[in-house]
Amino acid sequence: MNTTNLKAVGISVALPLLREIGGWPILGTNEGGNWREGDFSLTSLIVTINKYSNVPYIYPYVYLDSKDKKRRVLYLDNPGSILPERKHYDQPRDSPLMKAYVDLGVKVAIEFGADEEQARRDMEDILDLETNLVNITTPLEDRRDNEKLYNKFTVGEMKLNFTESKELDFTWRGYIQQLLQIDGVEFDLDENQTVIVVDIQYMKRLIPVLLQFPKRTITNYAVWRIMNNRIKDLPDRFRQYLGEYLKARNCFASSYINLDRLCIIVLYGSSHIRSRWRKCVDVVVNYLGLPIGRLFVQRHFDEEAKAGAMITSPFQISDMSDNILDSFRTILSELDWMDKDTREVAEEKALFIKRKIGYEDSILDDDLLNRRYENVTIHPVNYFENMLFLLKRTVIDDLLELRTNLYRMEWEVAPSTVNAYYSPPQNRIMFPAGILQPPYYHKDYPRSLNYGGIGTLIGHEITHGFDDRGRQYNKEGELHEWWSKRSVDKFKDLQTCFINQYGNFSSPEADGMKVNGIITLGENIADNGGVLQSYRAYRNFVSKRGSEENPLPGLNITHDQLFFINFAQGYGNSTESACLLGSIPMP
Ligand SMILES: [Zn+2]
Repeated sequence: MNTTNLKAVGISVALPLLREIGGWPILGTNEGGNWREGDFSLTSLIVTINKYSNVPYIYPYVYLDSKDKKRRVLYLDNPGSILPERKHYDQPRDSPLMKAYVDLGVKVAIEFGADEEQARRDMEDILDLETNLVNITTPLEDRRDNEKLYNKFTVGEMKLNFTESKELDFTWRGYIQQLLQIDGVEFDLDENQTVIVVDIQYMKRLIPVLLQFPKRTITNYAVWRIMNNRIKDLPDRFRQYLGEYLKARNCFASSYINLDRLCIIVLYGSSHIRSRWRKCVDVVVNYLGLPIGRLFVQRHFDEEAKAGAMITSPFQISDMSDNILDSFRTILSELDWMDKDTREVAEEKALFIKRKIGYEDSILDDDLLNRRYENVTIHPVNYFENMLFLLKRTVIDDLLELRTNLYRMEWEVAPSTVNAYYSPPQNRIMFPAGILQPPYYHKDYPRSLNYGGIGTLIGHEITHGFDDRGRQYNKEGELHEWWSKRSVDKFKDLQTCFINQYGNFSSPEADGMKVNGIITLGENIADNGGVLQSYRAYRNFVSKRGSEENPLPGLNITHDQLFFINFAQGYGNSTESACLLGSIPMP
């Protein structure tokens, strides 16, 4: 990264953005400030920042309609919060975390020329507003029933159900219309266009809450949402401020939206800021994951492994996933609490799961790859502008998918990703090339290690199709109840055991703080299912083989032990225990 240039351009890179938004009031009359109350429009404020994939007040996104997968639809959700968890906002204002948070904003504003005292007052107001908003969001524990997160309205119906405000210049129609008019999208709004409101309680209370705050604070917070995310792209002294804040927060947390758009909080056990090079790798993988992935697979991924994985051959991954699916079906047939009808449909759903292994072939085709990225231009020097461009491109492409057939690869996951996924709307499991490596997998490993590694992950992802949220989708990936009432009741009874068991895990290093058994439920069900299926599949493999695999030379360890050693190794990481609690194990 060209840090000399970054230092030379200093804060000036952010000024065009601040001007476009209409000024950041906290900066007073300094450049980037010059905000005028008379020009205030909540609609424009939100859309201008949404355009750069940042989400003050409303988080809009386009995704498959959960009940009609033939089309894509606009979803509106709450935007989450800057501090990682709701409970952080309950801390007293003089707590180290709150002080560090306010200090961070103050230091950033001072760098742009703000008056310290005014900046501090503004940041306190920002925190007040944010706390009020966090309190009207639906807690994660109550976001596991996906039917309740699917509230369909036409654009015309929005105003009848959700407050608008002349004072703030905000109507739902106006907001959606402006969103669909951002550069490069320009769709005309149709009154009958469908919108899915995800967090309905939040959306109902949003405008009434905002009306309690001055426009200055509403604007300050909206701009803080985007500035806070861009601190890491500014010169080194800004990163130092961020580092000081992260230290106070003990562990670094970020929330990301999974492929299936289920919000998952991941807490990384790191109290320090990531080095520039790591950050740069993340950015390239996040925004240009397919071309980078092309280079990655050419260099690192064994073609032979993929060929075996994709076609019906005795080759390992394909063979292993067949065996694991078989053990899933056997376990299903043994369930005494699930009635016969539900069991039959469950088996059908399991057989319908599509598998994606390694990467999509299209990334090896120059023409297709060029077509996919034809609208992307990267400047060799201007890092900050590149970031804004990529953020905006993401939003434009997302919105364009509402009405046009934008060219996308079928499988848009970066092949270098070290993770695996289950996508409920597609009913498919995905194993990018990045995870098909040690310690999870190696074609020359004994099968015990591979079943204990990638095998347990395959089982984990299959089980996601049947966990407390995945089970709400049918074999086609549509949100639709396919379980009998009796089986649902029984499932809910049984899941209480999981909630209680995991909800009682605690660690002395974290002052006895307990795991949240409800928000980790899906992952815990998947972990348990995964290890059980894979272990049984491994034992079946051994029975078919007729004898145990040959022992590893020099190690007095059985293959059953190796299975569990690799299982543990795959899940192990250096997360600080204080951070681990309340988090969700990967993947
Ligand atoms: Zn999972």
